[in-house]
Amino acid sequence: SETLAETADIARLSTIDGDFETRLDALLAWEGVSDAEIHRRVDEIIAGVRAHGDKALVEYSNRFDRLSVSSMTELTLSAERLEQAFIGLPEVQRAALSKAAERIRAYHARQKPESWTYTEADGTVLGQQVMPLDRAGIYVPGGKAAYPSSVLMNAIPAHVAGVREIVMVVPTPDGVLNELVLAAAHLAGVDHVFTIGGAQAVAALAYGTETVPRVDKIVGPGNTYVATAKRAVFGQVGIDMIAGPSEILVVSDGGTDPEWLAMDLFSQAEHDEDAQAILVSWDATHLDAVEAAIVRLLPTLEREAIVRQSLSRRGALIHCHDRAEAIDLINRIAPEHLELSMADPEALLPEVRHAGAIFMGRYTAEALGDYCAGPNHVLPTSGTARFSSPLGVYDFQKRSSIIHCSQEGASELGKVASILARGESLTAHARSAEYRIRP
Ligand code: NAD
Repeated sequence: SETLAETADIARLSTIDGDFETRLDALLAWEGVSDAEIHRRVDEIIAGVRAHGDKALVEYSNRFDRLSVSSMTELTLSAERLEQAFIGLPEVQRAALSKAAERIRAYHARQKPESWTYTEADGTVLGQQVMPLDRAGIYVPGGKAAYPSSVLMNAIPAHVAGVREIVMVVPTPDGVLNELVLAAAHLAGVDHVFTIGGAQAVAALAYGTETVPRVDKIVGPGNTYVATAKRAVFGQVGIDMIAGPSEILVVSDGGTDPEWLAMDLFSQAEHDEDAQAILVSWDATHLDAVEAAIVRLLPTLEREAIVRQSLSRRGALIHCHDRAEAIDLINRIAPEHLELSMADPEALLPEVRHAGAIFMGRYTAEALGDYCAGPNHVLPTSGTARFSSPLGVYDFQKRSSIIHCSQEGASELGKVASILARGESLTAHARSAEYRIRP
């Protein structure tokens, strides 16, 4: 066929190849960079912030973000400034941002877990009380690009959870403020914004300074300095996750327009050179057609160079035998984003055990989920969907157990506890329980 001649620089794999397993493993392998030199620098920056507080933040911001400020006042934005940014947006942007925020809020409102209790026959009450965190810190990357959608996706669940104070940090290299980012902070219910970034911002959130309040948990993506710093302060504060490069796995039944699928793959690949875009289908002719569409559309992309690199380094078009093999691949890859581009995605859904977000049918482009569908776009990467979930309201809450014994309940439980405590030779435990046994 004429399309066969049009080959792109993207791996073609088939599950019947003898070396399929080895090639798939190589394709999926991803080691988070762990650079000793970066660790050393990050530790130094954290120590600097702990020792010198605001003064260190001013100094590091001047050095790394090329600023020339003399106090934290110049790195603090008021609630009025955020509102101004929102009001000052062009009408179409203000409407789009508001619509996205509204949908994200509505989705997350349904996620809110409730406290519960139950009462036993003797009157003893047991339960679980759900409480929001006092303070959450949101890291918004700002080095190379600005991400207003990240502000909404990280701050809205915290706000819905009922977090008392949401503190956002965002670096402003060369002093450039992004109005959309500030407007998003206003919409999402952020309380304070500091224009600091990198390891110094993470340290400030974890330990607090004269100006920056210490938070209980830090969420949000960032570069290697940010990720290394988050790992270093974990334990002092909670963190969300350490995200790897973005990924998409598209499974197609052959009926979706090849150009749509090519663009869906590009939409992940344009994130960065390490991003991963994989298409799986049991229809070999369809894979050829998508490859031809890739060749045709690549030159039309603004970020063509990044996309080419990503596709040639980590992309693949995989031919499998049937749906059952496709399901095996899904669960093995445990992708961050999964598109089930087919007539009957519901039929496959119950078999999908591991995926961050599942986009059902031909019309649901993953990009819709990135911005405005409603569910969170902060998702487990690098196969971690095997054991973790999208960022959500529950990440900004914690649970306390409730135990309220009636006199009769304490008497009955005292007998059980006494025996077990004496078995452990913890006699104070036993006697404490025994005091409450009714004669
Ligand atoms: P960033 O805000 O993460 O990092 C910028 C900061 O890094 C600077 O303010 C500076 O303090 C620090 N820094 C830079 N060079 C340094 C040096 N030599 N020494 C010490 N500190 C230094 O912004 P970025 O660099 O643009 O990175 C953003 C990252 O976030 C990208 O990797 C992007 O892919 C990722 N991201 C991920 C998602 C997601 O949802 N997974 C969303 C948006 C962005």
